[in-house]
Amino acid sequence: SLLWQARFFTTVNHLRDLPKTQVPEIAFAGRSNAGKSTAINILCNQKKLAFASKTPGRTQHINYFSIGGAHVGQHRKDETRVDEIRALLVDLPGYGYAEVSGSAKLHWQELLGDYVQRREQLAALILIVDSRRPFTELDIQMLEWFAPTGKPIHCLLTKSDKLNRNDSANALRTARTILSSYVDENGQPFPFTAQLFSSLKRSGLDEATDKIIDLLGL
Ligand code: GDP
Repeated sequence: SLLWQARFFTTVNHLRDLPKTQVPEIAFAGRSNAGKSTAINILCNQKKLAFASKTPGRTQHINYFSIGGAHVGQHRKDETRVDEIRALLVDLPGYGYAEVSGSAKLHWQELLGDYVQRREQLAALILIVDSRRPFTELDIQMLEWFAPTGKPIHCLLTKSDKLNRNDSANALRTARTILSSYVDENGQPFPFTAQLFSSLKRSGLDEATDKIIDLLGL
């Protein structure tokens, strides 16, 4: 898969520092511990591309990974041929940790909200949600921030290995019902989709990969 080419590109702490690239990017968002880092690593067929924060909720930065470009070494952005990059994968800070202070929450709101609403290069959002607890308050916040852009959201209902067939089918049906309830002013549903996913069982991997490649126009 093209996603296997992903290499670390850059880390951003403030929106003013977002890369001035023109290629399409796709962003991964989700509640802390939903399985975002694991999903990114599985999709990119790498062990440590994205890593979970040791102090949950403290990492308020955005990590960029590049697809394409001649990478001489790993994890060395100065060796990436920026002009040859075809797409970017964006690992957004995880949200939803209760211990996070008020000012950190504000920073999160500003960084994530502004990024998803204003980043023109952003083609679509991959929303990582735990299949056992779909759509927490902050997931809904993400849906509501993003809906007005008219851009697609694809939800990975992760850890589906923890549910039996019946419960996972129900989780998927419920998620799709919730997603289809978001309609624009003409009553048209937003392009929101969902699938089951398990990093542990590697199930849903082909479907997710095809979707991401398609959303990036690769
Ligand atoms: P993040 O905070 O969203 O990046 O979450 P992580 O990727 O660090 O995953 C949180 C925890 O869930 C870790 O202990 C993972 O091993 C576990 N996990 C992630 N994906 C799966 C999955 O598909 N199945 C199961 N059973 N556990 C998973």
